[in-house]
Amino acid sequence: MSDSTNNKIVIDKHSGFCSGVINAIKTAEMWLAKEPALYCLGDIVHNNEELQRLTAMGLQIISHEEFKQLHHARVLIRAHGEPPETYQIARQNDIELVDATCKVVLNLQKTIHQFYKSQQFNHGQILIFGKEGHAEVVGLLGQTAQHGIVISSIQDIHKIDFSRPSMLYSQTTQNISEYQEVIAKIQEKYDALNRSEYFSYAHTICHSVIHRAQQIQQFAAHFEKVIFVSGEKSSNGLYLFDICKKTNPHTFFISNIEQLKEIPIRNEDHIGICGATSTPMWLMELVKKQLEIIINNS
Ligand code: SF4
Repeated sequence: MSDSTNNKIVIDKHSGFCSGVINAIKTAEMWLAKEPALYCLGDIVHNNEELQRLTAMGLQIISHEEFKQLHHARVLIRAHGEPPETYQIARQNDIELVDATCKVVLNLQKTIHQFYKSQQFNHGQILIFGKEGHAEVVGLLGQTAQHGIVISSIQDIHKIDFSRPSMLYSQTTQNISEYQEVIAKIQEKYDALNRSEYFSYAHTICHSVIHRAQQIQQFAAHFEKVIFVSGEKSSNGLYLFDICKKTNPHTFFISNIEQLKEIPIRNEDHIGICGATSTPMWLMELVKKQLEIIINNS
């Protein structure tokens, strides 16, 4: 096989797991190496290929309903974090928690919790810009005893009571441009009511997500074709794919190497491979190898 493909297919060196996901996976591997009985509450990472690798090592993914029935077991909490209720169930059921909540998410949970405790006196509202039902958002809402209001998009702004003050936070993996649009719209509403000072917000999108978005845009612009590798359930994956696609219309979304068959590849193509904060580097390397085979056989 010729190595002429080596410089035509490039993996984005900034793509792949973020520090929070790396920590959760290393923690799981460490416990599995000691003793193979480890449960994980929800998918440890939104990537089926990586999930299969870890479940083959013994990791058992359980739902929140299954967690409630569990007793005397060891359960890993993934990077997204959990609401206080999960810790309470663990204490009641003698469950040992291995807490791999990302430090960035943990800090946000603490900030929201402290604000919730302090703002009850002046009847303010806590707003969370995020995806309804997403694990991280469920964990953040738990810090407000379910009194927080989830704002998924500008269309949800009607949920806000503009006669009361509001404090807005964002889920760590949200789209920064959409967050800025939501901030501007809410501010506009308060301004129109001469209550500008009623509204505050915090910059809580994770820096690695913001940097990744900027880097991936530059990366995607360099190639004739871009193969974006991600699990379909990854919100960060869908967000970064959208940026790539807008930058380079010849961007293709795949979750596994089988899907490469659907993509028209030419021998002379200069191809970039990138992915989400939940995409393992080994999978992008596998995609590169498979592309080299396709090109060398064409
Ligand atoms: S994207 Fe940021 S906040 Fe989310 S797990 Fe990764 S490092 Fe943590």
